Amino acid sequence: MLTLTKHFTLHFAHALTNYNGPCQHLHGHTYHLAVTVCASDISQEASEDYIMDFHNLKQLVEDAVVNKFDHSVVLSTHNPLAKTLGGEANAVIMEKEPTTENLLRYFAQLVADRLPQNVKLRSVKLGESPTSEAELILD
Ligand SMILES: [Zn+2]
Repeated sequence: MLTLTKHFTLHFAHALTNYNGPCQHLHGHTYHLAVTVCASDISQEASEDYIMDFHNLKQLVEDAVVNKFDHSVVLSTHNPLAKTLGGEANAVIMEKEPTTENLLRYFAQLVADRLPQNVKLRSVKLGESPTSEAELILD
């Protein structure tokens, strides 16, 4: 299978509610996001000159995820800080906790909703440090 991947760097703050560890406090990470796509119809990929223009994929992920999350504060609706920071222009309030896993699922949905019909999301990888990353692999 032929896949295309674009890499992005985002900086944002989060805090986890009811979490016993350093991530319960408001703090930031430098996240590394990798978005991988493939052709919707794998039987067609060999006949295509390209699956998707890298520039278009970059623009799409920036519109869907990067422009919203970079330099933001991400909290769940359950976090007490959401009441005070929720009105800030750079606040992103999610229904679920902003764990790497939940952020991945959310980012995947945001990207998948914007892909052209002939392109399918294959995987999304999110690292919150050079040694810690999670990957969501789609069928
Ligand atoms: Zn954290």
